[in-house]
Amino acid sequence: MSETTLLLDGISKSYKGAVGGPVTVLKEASIALKRGEVVALVAPSGAGKSTLLHIAGLLDTCDAGRVVINGTDMTRLGDNARTAARRQQVGFIYQFHHLLPEFTAAENIILPQLANGVPKAQARDRAADLLASVGLSPRAGHRPAQMSGGEQQRVAFCRAMANQPSVLLADEPTGNLDPDTSDQVFSVLMELVRDTGLSALIATHNLQLAAKMDRVLRLDAGRIVTAQA
Ligand code: ADP
Ligand code: MG
Repeated sequence: MSETTLLLDGISKSYKGAVGGPVTVLKEASIALKRGEVVALVAPSGAGKSTLLHIAGLLDTCDAGRVVINGTDMTRLGDNARTAARRQQVGFIYQFHHLLPEFTAAENIILPQLANGVPKAQARDRAADLLASVGLSPRAGHRPAQMSGGEQQRVAFCRAMANQPSVLLADEPTGNLDPDTSDQVFSVLMELVRDTGLSALIATHNLQLAAKMDRVLRLDAGRIVTAQA
């Protein structure tokens, strides 16, 4: 039985107020992610990958269409319920790590758990386990500025996994790294994703990385089309 964890159903989005009139970015874009499936979202810069991921991650709203996560239509929820659903069900990874600079690696993974009501000791243990799983136990007490780009991004993966989401969204997660580091860090991400069995939608314009995923989707003129890897 294949269970849909994330359904994007006919998502449309225009940015109003742009110079020269509204910019239509998404036109009835639809994606269904099954549990455990890892899908690449490939498109050139400016095609709308970040826009789509932000809508899927409940970080932005759409003009039309539905975002359904584990059977709940998120587009119909109020702000508080959406925020709670985002914390509990979605992990988000940005191209730039977006870690809080004044906190250590461990603290960056603990804080989202505390916001989600997890007891402190349990949050600490989970942060330690996650850091160990990406080979970063020795960096637990380091701040982001004391780590390399690849290390920062591995901590960001742990943070995204902190609340055991069922859907992981990653926006060019290795786009900021040199090619060798990018390959290594991507392997770490894939291992984490496969170990937890969650669904992932990963934007990239690296076709070699895309080919390692289960399916490749392309954003073309605001619509989702299937691409051959
Ligand atoms: P990608 O992530 O594929 O590079 P984006 O989703 O960032 O694409 O952007 C898609 C299009 O929407 C681009 O043309 C971009 O200029 C435009 N855009 C993105 N954000 C805004 C915004 N806040 N206001 C106006 N236009 C925007
Ligand atoms: Mg982008």
